Amino acid sequence: MEHLYAPWRYDYVTDEKIEGCIFCHISKNVEEEKYQVLFYDEYCYIVMNKFPYSPGHLMVIPHFHTDKIEELEDEVWTRMSVRIRQAVSLLKDTMNCEGVNIGMNLGKAAGAGIAQHVHYHALPRWIGDTNFISSIGGVRVYPADFDEIFLKLKEQASKYFVD
Ligand SMILES: [Zn+2]
Repeated sequence: MEHLYAPWRYDYVTDEKIEGCIFCHISKNVEEEKYQVLFYDEYCYIVMNKFPYSPGHLMVIPHFHTDKIEELEDEVWTRMSVRIRQAVSLLKDTMNCEGVNIGMNLGKAAGAGIAQHVHYHALPRWIGDTNFISSIGGVRVYPADFDEIFLKLKEQASKYFVD
């Protein structure tokens, strides 16, 4: 049994053929329902991970394309921190989760799936969910309907993502 558990190692995956950076593409198409963007402002957007590690796995992504957080303007970095904190609150209340992982993988060596554009993960967690995940041998199957989860979170989003 493998015990290495890196909750945000699974990154954004899409069937769509998109030229260039997927996160820049979503940044320009935040209104499109298929990308499941929960919220956006002038600095960043919040999107569901289409290949989630846990139901409700979302990401806060700056509109600015960079692979280095050091290159982000202070306002962008600050806003992302505020949004991730609000996202934690949204997940706790809406998903009834018992814990939340937040984090970033900076660079391929750190496990980033899409290393060229920094992104901040938030994953709701429940006691025993790793046992469930390992017990099915790396095949991530969830009972929950992801479109339903998106709609549920989206419905609540405006209450949480406030300035
Ligand atoms: Zn990009």
